[in-house]
Amino acid sequence: MLKRITCTVCPLSCEVVLEIGENGEILSLTGNKCARGKTYATKEHTAPERTLTTTVKIKGGVHPLLPVRTDQPIPKGKLREAMLATADLVVEAPVKMGDVVVENFLDLGVNLIASRDLDRVE
Ligand code: SF4
Repeated sequence: MLKRITCTVCPLSCEVVLEIGENGEILSLTGNKCARGKTYATKEHTAPERTLTTTVKIKGGVHPLLPVRTDQPIPKGKLREAMLATADLVVEAPVKMGDVVVENFLDLGVNLIASRDLDRVE
């Protein structure tokens, strides 16, 4: 089976073609113009990760929602659970960009952090 993955590491966006064996193993990998593409495509196939970006409610802020993100990528398969876990979160204004909103989010070893400053309404 062939699997095509667009490398997003740099703007060249190489299309990397993986030949996948019956047990999911990579038999060959072509189309990457550099070693970073090989690393990226291999990880995308074996253990894809994404940075979660979303918003949470904020109490007393000048806006009703605070943009947040994980400070490191998390397993792609955990994104839905992570989104659901943010649905009921409420933080208290003021908040500074980079403030930790949830430490060790979902026991994944990453923090959920504020993506911007948000002042308290006077
Ligand atoms: S394979 Fe290398 S050159 Fe191609 S998009 Fe990825 S990082 Fe860029």
